[in-house]
Amino acid sequence: MTFGNFAKYLQQLEETSSRLSLINILGRLFAEVESSDICQVVYLIQGRVAPFYEAIEIGMSEKLVAQAIAKAYGVSREEVLKKYSEMGDLGKVTEVLSHQSSTISNQTVGDIFDTLLEIAKTSGAGTVEKKVNLLAGLLQEMDPISAKHLVRIPMGSSRLGVGDPTILDAFAECKLGHRKERKELEEAYNRTSDLGIIGETLWNKGLEGVKKLDVEVGRPLRSELTERLPDAKTILEKMGGRAHIQYKYDGFRVQIHKSGDTVRLFSRNLEETTLMMPEIIEGVLKQVKAKTIILDSEALAYNKTSEEFLPFQETTKRRRKYQVEEMSKTLPLKAFVFDVMYLNGKSLVDLPLDERMKVLVSEVNGDETLIPEPGEFTDSAEKIQQMFDDAITKGLEGLIVKKPDSRYEAGARNFNWVKLKRHSAGELKDTIDCVILGYIFGKGKRSGFGAGSLLVGVYDEKKDMFVTVSKIGTGLTDIEWKEIHERSDKISVDHKPARVDSLITPTVWIQPEIVIEVLADEITKSPTHTAGKTDSEPGYALRFPRLVRFRGEDKRAEDCTTVAELKEMYKLQYKKD
Ligand code: ATP
Repeated sequence: MTFGNFAKYLQQLEETSSRLSLINILGRLFAEVESSDICQVVYLIQGRVAPFYEAIEIGMSEKLVAQAIAKAYGVSREEVLKKYSEMGDLGKVTEVLSHQSSTISNQTVGDIFDTLLEIAKTSGAGTVEKKVNLLAGLLQEMDPISAKHLVRIPMGSSRLGVGDPTILDAFAECKLGHRKERKELEEAYNRTSDLGIIGETLWNKGLEGVKKLDVEVGRPLRSELTERLPDAKTILEKMGGRAHIQYKYDGFRVQIHKSGDTVRLFSRNLEETTLMMPEIIEGVLKQVKAKTIILDSEALAYNKTSEEFLPFQETTKRRRKYQVEEMSKTLPLKAFVFDVMYLNGKSLVDLPLDERMKVLVSEVNGDETLIPEPGEFTDSAEKIQQMFDDAITKGLEGLIVKKPDSRYEAGARNFNWVKLKRHSAGELKDTIDCVILGYIFGKGKRSGFGAGSLLVGVYDEKKDMFVTVSKIGTGLTDIEWKEIHERSDKISVDHKPARVDSLITPTVWIQPEIVIEVLADEITKSPTHTAGKTDSEPGYALRFPRLVRFRGEDKRAEDCTTVAELKEMYKLQYKKD
């Protein structure tokens, strides 16, 4: 497939305001794609040159991309940057500049992909010049629309509004006849986290091939997630009279992959975090003898002698890419290992939890850095309550209670895993992770930063849409407003993004990408919001919402709170302890 043809589809994706037409456009694109290209096409749609979990970045700053554009069209970098500050999108700047000197080329998707990969892998002396030359070289041979979309890849701002579920739907529509047939594809995605591999397998081996795609060491599976229930008794009933209890640690999730002497770590949203936690790597090599293994754990700062858990604010200081060695000495992390999903070449996801806990105990030796947390089994609600009180006394958040005979359901959020947290009656028990959908200009001193309030939403999993729950203006400092403004300008669009459903039209729409954690007093019903709204029922809304923090790095938009969760939380808030 030529890149020019591919870019025409990208242009259509960018222009549509409807999710259904996103799928139709993708379906038409996929119908033209050969099996040799599908993997690369999918990565490029995601704005990447590798699956999400591979830490391969193009590694070009705005300034470098501007330099490449300048070189390609024979203008100065200052001129490119000046136009960028006027237009707010280097893609559009490129489109305009390339009008002046464009030739139609027949570069293929494969050619472009390979060059982008080469740019990503360039390192050492002369890196900057080489990256600039390679990108400029591609641009020189491109038509304006192709150039616009190409430039947005290193900028990380594709503005297409396509999510992973949208791609799965389009795969199903194109290859299985209807998007409703996507269940098996989704399960394979939960096991592999790699849409490129799923595409390639579907094109080459059909659905039967996809069903055989299994959990593999070195490739993260999607994390199993939790539901909420109000109290020990309700949980025990829901689990069928017997439950497995573990403490709920408040750090960050680390999926550990060991293959021989190689250890790789992945975050909750499948980003590679190997380089951030050298002490965990060392701990795995010391404490785990298995040749290949995948473990699920929560890493946090913990003082073993005093049995003190450090607050989340301390632990989170470790989520950074610099001064790693130094920090690993001053604020060492421990990993509480609570599950095992793979051992010596075999997936364990279909084993019941109680069996997996036996494997966990036998495979993790000692408790120096990795601390095995096999939990306890009980059929007593009092026991759950006692452990909960104990957890709170220890400074933990509460418990995670699990169904003893449940398999590890990658990517699922259901009542097999339930969190029990402390709360006071009448107040919301939990924060809500919202996605910013737009901003509404305000008057007064803040309008200088272009934002008076933010339109925020949650994710409707069933529809693969983002729906609104609130406008929020409280809790943000001027610096945070500035940050939001800077980040959202890069992904602002001139029409409602295709996967957003809103009755409110903000001053500026932005692609749903930035996740923030919000605290509210209550979930209420409101006709102005679309979360959970039906023809007969109003939507859900947040009362007195305020920003707690940005959750950008560890959650993607689709990982924010879902409508189903909001419904549960709405029901739970009226139950007293
Ligand atoms: P999400 O469930 O969407 O990750 P969150 O990050 O706000 O939301 P919670 O819902 O409050 O977290 O709790 C679930 C998280 O708790 C898990 O993702 C995991 O990181 C952590 N966790 C801590 N201890 C355990 C445990 N014993 N079993 C499973 N998860 C645990």
